Amino acid sequence: MNLDTPLEKTGRLTDGQKKALKRLGIESVQDLLYHFPLRYGDSSQFSYIQNVTAGQEVILYAQVKSITAKKTYQKNMTMTEAVLEDSNGDTIQAVWFSQPYIAKMLPEGSTARFSGSIQERKGALYLSNSEFERKDIPLEKTGPLFSESEQELMIYPVYAQTKGITSKWIYHKVKKILTNDFLDALPDPVPEAIRNSYNLPSLAHALIYIHNPRKISDAEAARKRFAFEEVFFTQLVKQHEKREYEKSGAFIVNTDQEQLEKFTSTLPFTLTQGQSAALSDITNDISSNKPMSRLLEGDVGSGKTIIAAATSFLTATTKPKGQNFGRLQVAYMAPTEILAKQIFNDFCELMQPFSISVGLITGKDCYKFPSKTSDGPTKISKNQLKKWTENGEIQILVGTHALIAKSVFFENLGLAIIDEQHRFGKNQRAALRTKPKEKSSESKNRVASKIQKKGLADNTDILPHLLSMSATPIPRTLALTVYGDLDLSVMDEMPPGRKRVQTTIVRPDEREQIYDQIQAIMDTGKQLYVICPRIFEPDPTKEKALQMKSAVGEAERLKRDVFPEASIAVLHSKMKKEEKDKIMNDFKDKKYNILVATSVIEVGVNVPNATMIIIEGAERFGLSQLHQLRGRVMRSSDQPYCFVFADSKTENTEKRLRAFVEAKNGFELAEYDMQFRGAGQMMGNKQWGVSDLAMEAIKNIKLVEAARKEAATIIKNDQLDEYPLMKNKFALIRSKMYLE
Ligand code: ADP
Ligand code: MG
Repeated sequence: MNLDTPLEKTGRLTDGQKKALKRLGIESVQDLLYHFPLRYGDSSQFSYIQNVTAGQEVILYAQVKSITAKKTYQKNMTMTEAVLEDSNGDTIQAVWFSQPYIAKMLPEGSTARFSGSIQERKGALYLSNSEFERKDIPLEKTGPLFSESEQELMIYPVYAQTKGITSKWIYHKVKKILTNDFLDALPDPVPEAIRNSYNLPSLAHALIYIHNPRKISDAEAARKRFAFEEVFFTQLVKQHEKREYEKSGAFIVNTDQEQLEKFTSTLPFTLTQGQSAALSDITNDISSNKPMSRLLEGDVGSGKTIIAAATSFLTATTKPKGQNFGRLQVAYMAPTEILAKQIFNDFCELMQPFSISVGLITGKDCYKFPSKTSDGPTKISKNQLKKWTENGEIQILVGTHALIAKSVFFENLGLAIIDEQHRFGKNQRAALRTKPKEKSSESKNRVASKIQKKGLADNTDILPHLLSMSATPIPRTLALTVYGDLDLSVMDEMPPGRKRVQTTIVRPDEREQIYDQIQAIMDTGKQLYVICPRIFEPDPTKEKALQMKSAVGEAERLKRDVFPEASIAVLHSKMKKEEKDKIMNDFKDKKYNILVATSVIEVGVNVPNATMIIIEGAERFGLSQLHQLRGRVMRSSDQPYCFVFADSKTENTEKRLRAFVEAKNGFELAEYDMQFRGAGQMMGNKQWGVSDLAMEAIKNIKLVEAARKEAATIIKNDQLDEYPLMKNKFALIRSKMYLE
């Protein structure tokens, strides 16, 4: 047996078990051993029969006084009934259905640990379908008399189970595999030197510790090791990728202070400290002949557009020295048409004083600015736009993913910007980055021969500098893990003059009063967003009617009962793209007073006149998500308001919503979410591609930094080849990440 042995070869499996294992994604011995316990039970935490109540999950130590199996009349099932007696002499009935073998396993007089739920029938309590394990130990008056070794074995693992496979089955299967001697020679992909410096158990030990801990601290040591392993290999892959990019060259952008001031002096404000710091990180990077790979993180409204514009300005005005062709170009990719249009409009305005030409490409329309025929942008054909992009006439091209179409070529792409970068797939991001490698056949040779390669070998590729942007504040440790290939600049302050959103948690009896307040503000011409947790009303014949407002239903109710004078629109993800765009534009043009939507309405959409937002069912959203929703009303200098309604009144909900009211910025909330909501549920691990276990560990900055440091050293010193086992695992993880 080894790690790759298919589980089927290790013992007989029923069809039901095979199906269940498949559902859990378990095929090999390795898969099973990496199916870690969700948590650990402690069987010293047992109950006495005199104290149990209906509905309770309990552990009992008891002796079987009598046991009988019989057929039930109605369904022809076997039912086993037993009477159990604990050390106090109290008794309770235990019942099992469809498990005819139980009477054989638990003969009269035997003692066992039972765990199950207490149920009630006709006024009598009984223990239902309990799990049990024989423990032939004396039940003294003082309680069960555990031997010393028994005491050590009180910790037991609890696994995620599915129909056909119980936690107990996994427990026994794993236990059997762990006694196999292939473990003694189990190769460990984490180098020993690294394990030793952080006190991490070997793979074989860790597997035993995590499945069969004698003490909780064993399990913790094992979990730490596996978390380290995951973060370490993620880092190896990301940093390797970064280094590959760094092997390429890049155009040196002119970042003279004087040049930069030409741009900043046209702005009606001065940059915040955060903006200046971010810009200085960026100018440092792009004035070198290595491509920048930087992530700019900042809350919605923190002013990222200006940073992107300043960087674009510097790039578009750089004329690579000693060359007889045009200036450098910029590609700016945004996740939606609305956002791309908005950026295009902003850029037209910002670039006008410098006569820098800006283009827009989306799936539908193409525009260019400035134009000979009108003051504003002109609509042009896609072919025309492509031609002007390829000959360098368009200096900044803004667009949706239409930008990365195979038929779009640049003359000299110097800078690639990706807005809301997490909304693009890995391949889309890579496609933008490698754009310059693609040339139409005519221009290929012409350009290749002209590229300036100061200080670079002749065969070096030229890549654009990359500026990624994200308005989703995530904890620093998580950012370091999932963006290991990027350098990080964080802007955690808002431009001055911005009013803090007045956030109110509204109690049910205050709803009317809040609606009056909103009506008064609406009367001054301001607009309102209403966010609901679901799109449609539930079908009462099919679903349990959850207490959850739907966008469609709430819009009707508001019109009918609350704001009859208002014009109200609905926006949600099931609508067609054109329909969504139209509604959003009409809302921007103030054709509606109220927009009722689900949480998916685009982040970053700018409607300064909308200064109020209602969030229904707020407990269903993560804190970071709530914060993003609230960011929509922070777009003007008027006082913005956020009204939060929660259906659940648990202590946890209250604590989280209070944090939402009080937090200074999104980063604070992201940290809070991670610490208190449980990393697993935080923002959906799927989104970040990080396991529950690693998420848990990511709370621990020391561990993340250690894994990052070790990975960096190995990549920097080119040591992958020195550790073949590590290299194998690295290659495996890398190919998995590329499949995303
Ligand atoms: P983000 O893209 O980060 O969500 P934006 O770049 O759209 O934010 O900026 C939001 C608003 O803040 C814009 O209207 C912008 O003109 C304004 N703004 C940006 N920087 C400053 C600043 N330093 N001082 C005042 N206003 C600013
Ligand atoms: Mg933005």
